[in-house]
Amino acid sequence: MTNTNLTRAIDARRDDLVALTQDLIRIATLNPPGENYREICLYLDKRLSASGFDTQLIRAHDAIGDSNKHPRWNIVARHQGPHPGDCIHFNSHHDVVEVGSGWTKDPFGGQIEDGKIYGRGACDMKGGLAASIIAAEAFIATYPNHAGTIEISATADEESGGFGGVAYLAEKGFFNPERVQHVIIPEPLNKNRICLGHRGVYWAEIETKGRIAHGSMPFLGDCAIRHMGAVIREMEDTLFPALAEKRTDMPVVPEGAKQSTLNINSLHGGEDEQAADYTGLPSPCVPHSARMIIDRRFLIEENLSDVKTEIRDLLDQLSQTRPDFSYEIRDLHEVEPTMTAQNAPIVTATSRAITRVMGLTPDYVISPGTYDQKHIDRIGRLKNCIAYGPGILDLAHQPDEYVGIDDMIDSAKVMTLTLQDLLSTDD
Ligand SMILES: [Zn+2]
Repeated sequence: MTNTNLTRAIDARRDDLVALTQDLIRIATLNPPGENYREICLYLDKRLSASGFDTQLIRAHDAIGDSNKHPRWNIVARHQGPHPGDCIHFNSHHDVVEVGSGWTKDPFGGQIEDGKIYGRGACDMKGGLAASIIAAEAFIATYPNHAGTIEISATADEESGGFGGVAYLAEKGFFNPERVQHVIIPEPLNKNRICLGHRGVYWAEIETKGRIAHGSMPFLGDCAIRHMGAVIREMEDTLFPALAEKRTDMPVVPEGAKQSTLNINSLHGGEDEQAADYTGLPSPCVPHSARMIIDRRFLIEENLSDVKTEIRDLLDQLSQTRPDFSYEIRDLHEVEPTMTAQNAPIVTATSRAITRVMGLTPDYVISPGTYDQKHIDRIGRLKNCIAYGPGILDLAHQPDEYVGIDDMIDSAKVMTLTLQDLLSTDD
C-alpha cells in the first residue's frame, strides 16, 4: 500500500513502539482502586517532553474517586506547529481493570510471543496510547513545519466512568471546541473500523416493598420477593419482547446490540447474606424489601424520558392490578447516546488514511457500551470525535489480553496519515 516518508517513519520506530507499549503495561494502573496513576503520568511526561510537547499534569481534585491515597492524575501534552491550524487530540485512558483469573502470562510483564504483546491493558488501551504517541512523534519529525496543534492525553478512570479523567478535563475546558477541533480515542475497536459513538445508558434501582412477619405465618406479612417476581414476570411477558422490537439504524456491533437491551444487573431480597464462614441457619422472616438494579441500553431513536416512563408504566400497571404492590425507583446513572456524523472531518480523514494504509474502506460502527466520548460530547460539546485504535475489542478485560504488533504499526500509520491530512504540511 502507500509507502510514504511518514509510513516509513512508523516502520523505523517499530522497536520503539514495542518498548513503549511494554513500559506502559509494566506500570500497573489498576482501577479500582486507581494505582500508579502518577507514575504513568510522570513516565509519559518525560517521554513527551523529550519529543517537544508542553505537558501539564492535572489532578482531578475532589472528583469522584479522587483521594490522597489514590489521587486521580491525568496528563495533557500539547505540541504547536509554527503555523496556525486545527488541533487534533488523541485521548487514551491509562487505567486498566483488575487482572482476574485464568492468565498463563504475567499480566504486568509485557511478554512478547508470536508478534503479540501480552498484559492487562495491552489492547485496552496502552497499545492504542503507544500507537498515538509514535504516530505524533513520527509526524512531527517528518514535518517540523506543520500547521496546527497535536495534543495527547492520558486520563484516569475511564473504566469506572471517567469522572476523575475526561469528565474533569472537559469541565476545565480542555475539550472546548475553541481549543480542540478533532478527537481520536484509540480504544481497541479493530484497525479497520471507525467507531462513531455509543448507545445510551439508564441504570436504576427498583425496590419492592413488603412487610416483615414470622416465616411460619407468611400470610401475616407481605413478601417483597414475590412482588419482585411479579416485576420480572411482567418484564418477561411484555418488556423484553417490546425491547427486541426496537431496532436501530445505528451500526452497532455486535449484531445482538442493534436493539434496545435490558440487563438485570443484580437482585437482592430478604435477609442479608452472611459471610462464607458463618455456619448458622437463617432466621425465618418474610422479606420486607427486594431490590433490583437494572441496566437499560437505549438507541439514538429513543429518548431517555421515554425509557424511564416505560419502566415506571410497567410498575404502575402492577400497582393497579396486584394487591398490596408498592415500589420505589431510584435513578442511578444515565448517559445519552452519541453518534458522530459520517461526513465529519475526523471521520473522513481517518477513513482516507485507512484506505491508504490497508487498501480497504473502513467499517463504521457504534459501540454497545459507552466510553469517554460521552464526556467529550456532553460536557465539551465537541462532536467531531471518534474511537479508532488497534486491538481486538473482545480481548478487553479478558485473561491473556494482548495487542498485535503489526496491528499497532498499521493503526499508527493511519493516525499519522490522518495528522498529515488535517494539518497542512507545506515544507
Ligand atoms: Zn478502554
